[in-house]
Amino acid sequence: MARLKLKEHLINRDWCKGCNICVHFCPKHVLELDSEEKVVAVRPEDCICCRLCELRCPDLAIEVITEQSDHDATSTSEDAVNTSEQDD
Ligand code: SF4
Ligand code: SF4
Repeated sequence: MARLKLKEHLINRDWCKGCNICVHFCPKHVLELDSEEKVVAVRPEDCICCRLCELRCPDLAIEVITEQSDHDATSTSEDAVNTSEQDD
């Protein structure tokens, strides 16, 4: 199974109400609230792209964007495409 790689956390600061749910559910402590009570990804390098934050947010204020999403599959390390054609 391909491992998801984080591209970014898309946070809608207008929708985030600072409820802390995503902060509590994140198993890697990636998220925190800032001084305006809006969520920020303070340790994005620790994110495992489990999407719990996205799934638990009641206001759809956070989205986990990964590099494996279908609209952006330009760079893969698995370029082993076998194109040997034997037309006899
Ligand atoms: S995707 Fe998972 S690890 Fe990453 S910030 Fe959200 S809850 Fe945390
Ligand atoms: S769960 Fe949603 S609304 Fe609550 S702090 Fe996180 S992003 Fe903001």
